[in-house]
Amino acid sequence: MPDPNASASAALLERARQVTPGGVNSPVRAFRAVGGTPRFMASGQGPWLTDVDGNRYVDLICSWGPMILGHRHPDVLAAVRDAADHGFSFGTPSENEVALAEEIVARVKPVEQVRLVSSGTEATMSALRLARGFTGRSKVVKFAGCYHGHVDALLAAAGSGLATFGLPDSAGVPGATTADTIVLPYNDIPALEAAFAEHGEQIAAVITEASPGNMGVVPPAPGFTAAMRRLTRDHGALMISDEVMTGFRCSAAGWFGLEGAQDGTPDLFTFGKVMGGGFPAAAFGGRADIMSRLAPDGPVYQAGTLSGNPVATAAGLATLRGCTPDLYSRLDLVAHTIADAASEELSKAGVPHVVQWAGSMFSVFFRDELVLNYEDAKAQDTAAFGRFFHSMLQQGVHLPPSAYEAWFVSGSHDDEAIDQIISALPAAVRAITASDGTIPA
Ligand SMILES: *Cc1c(COP(=O)(O)O)cnc(C)c1O
Repeated sequence: MPDPNASASAALLERARQVTPGGVNSPVRAFRAVGGTPRFMASGQGPWLTDVDGNRYVDLICSWGPMILGHRHPDVLAAVRDAADHGFSFGTPSENEVALAEEIVARVKPVEQVRLVSSGTEATMSALRLARGFTGRSKVVKFAGCYHGHVDALLAAAGSGLATFGLPDSAGVPGATTADTIVLPYNDIPALEAAFAEHGEQIAAVITEASPGNMGVVPPAPGFTAAMRRLTRDHGALMISDEVMTGFRCSAAGWFGLEGAQDGTPDLFTFGKVMGGGFPAAAFGGRADIMSRLAPDGPVYQAGTLSGNPVATAAGLATLRGCTPDLYSRLDLVAHTIADAASEELSKAGVPHVVQWAGSMFSVFFRDELVLNYEDAKAQDTAAFGRFFHSMLQQGVHLPPSAYEAWFVSGSHDDEAIDQIISALPAAVRAITASDGTIPA
């Protein structure tokens, strides 16, 4: 059954399929996990998206995080226009890059230096190379369900789109590339201790999402981050905290800046999403003695034609400057209002669920027990999520099209947007429990 009110999107998808695999440029956009027709967006304003059929949605994807101020925020728009007015890309250094780096260094205490790149994938790939170059070791530890971009060595038991598709791994990644990758269950200190007991001398780094968001939101259990810090330090390995999703979203300094959240200072961090303000800008950074191993000062090579692009850095800088204490209070309020309303409605209907948090980032898992790791996340009722998702969509609320994702809010989500979400909940919860609740093909 075709989705009602999606004929222009369906036509575009058909055209797109001719020239692009699956019709999309990033797999999760294809709606494979929930079925139906992905909506092609024509414009965004504040918390609203308008698709090519003229339907208007409250946006709970927010570009998977970057649109923390809402779409077309006036300050960001002005900064982008001004930067574009001065030139698009120079291939030389420019001032915006310095200003953005200064803003990041000022916000995240342990970050003494950063190198700008264009995507989160590049950031984690480069951080990993740097850790290996710095330590002279080759093995790396990652956790099942943590997604660090589509870096070959890290595409083992990754979350996000791969969680959605249930692919244990990606084709095209040679065994040799992941042979040095040790995958452990998240929140499992004994597993981490055992890995270090066996391979301690060969481990270059442990990479972790600061608080995983790509298997849904699964915060570190008390003591887990501290154990990671202790074991890496004792064995001469580095700790890399991937804050591409949490960075500048959970707090002004990301997950690291959340009160009581951090019990171990990472050596390296990776950033993306929010810091690009919707443009391709990302970064990795940390201790100066490690960062100095990068070319041109050191022997670890890393480069990029568009790295530190003047328009992208202007957007990122304007976005970070908009990330004030007031903004974070607003995000908390919006997120809690939405999550509380959803939880209340689900409880009334007796639908098993649990809401998990990392700052204002949250997920609703359709399962009645806490989710501590990827195995737990996979035990949720994804079919229930699909029915819920489609009902919300029909009622003008665009959730991430997968049960393995956070719901992202912005500072622009006002009362009208929040009311539209809350009014949609009763029917969406009924859709979960309705015996004839079928997912559109
Ligand atoms: C999104 C994400 C990445 C990848 O960033 P891209 O810009 O999509 O390459 C890496 N790590 C985490 C934690 C992410 O959420």
